[in-house]
Amino acid sequence: TDITELLLSRIRDVADYPEPGVVFKDITPLLADPAAFTALTEALAEVAARTGATKIIGLEARGFILGAPVAVRAGLGFVPVRKAGKLPGATLSQAYDLEYGSAEIEVHAEDLTADDRVLVVDDVLATGGTAEASLELIRRAGAQVAGLAVLMELGFLGGRARLEPALAGAPLTAL
Ligand code: IMP
Repeated sequence: TDITELLLSRIRDVADYPEPGVVFKDITPLLADPAAFTALTEALAEVAARTGATKIIGLEARGFILGAPVAVRAGLGFVPVRKAGKLPGATLSQAYDLEYGSAEIEVHAEDLTADDRVLVVDDVLATGGTAEASLELIRRAGAQVAGLAVLMELGFLGGRARLEPALAGAPLTAL
């Protein structure tokens, strides 16, 4: 479709970043183009409306850039999921495995309630580890998962299959 073409045309492939052999999908050209950034925001806001979300979670750091305007556009609250040690209040933490080592993400527990249906927003779904940990945080906070929406899915990494149990039927939308 037209929007897919527009979005794809504004994503830059950067070879050997952050390490040799990796092709990094860089969304900064898309962010710098007002037509593309607006189209992306509106498409993600439609997903939020369709899934009945009450809040948007953005995953640090590019999920903040995409998720915040989506929340405003859809009339929803925004909740940041941050890397460990960045949030000042009482947090829930979730550790997850990386290729080498592990990572930990956190959310302010009081920002999610049992009444919330939460849509997680990020730029790129790769192995799915980060998204999976964020879905776990939503459940542990007692809220419901409305879905996961990303600009781009790197299908060859198998994130979609990995996320099936954690999504429990909630939709994964990759634009
Ligand atoms: P995963 O946990 O392996 O799915 O990695 C997803 C996280 O890494 C997301 O927060 C992405 O922002 C980031 N990421 C992984 N690959 C890329 C990429 O090619 N471009 C931009 N971000 C990426």
